[in-house]
Amino acid sequence: MPQRTCIGCRTTLAKKELVRVVRTPEGVMIDPTGKMAGRGAYIHKIHSCWEQALKGPINHALRVEITAVDRQRLQDYTDRLPKGENPTSPEESLNGKGNKD
Ligand SMILES: [Zn+2]
Repeated sequence: MPQRTCIGCRTTLAKKELVRVVRTPEGVMIDPTGKMAGRGAYIHKIHSCWEQALKGPINHALRVEITAVDRQRLQDYTDRLPKGENPTSPEESLNGKGNKD
């Protein structure tokens, strides 16, 4: 299972939990397929991680100063993400009930 680090929270996890952003000649784009050419970085599909990444780590990761247009595009994507802190469904909620001690 390929693993990548979220540039927002610095957690390493499976690629499928992350969204790739890529530096292209047209600017920094979201790359849902993960196949676009260019320097890429990975961010959790969580609102807070995008907010954090846009504060600076994305510039560092992509070695580019993101433009106002890029920022707007990424912010629009961020605004559509869930705001929950934990995107993985905890199985304890299923296993925790009905267990005998
Ligand atoms: Zn993260």
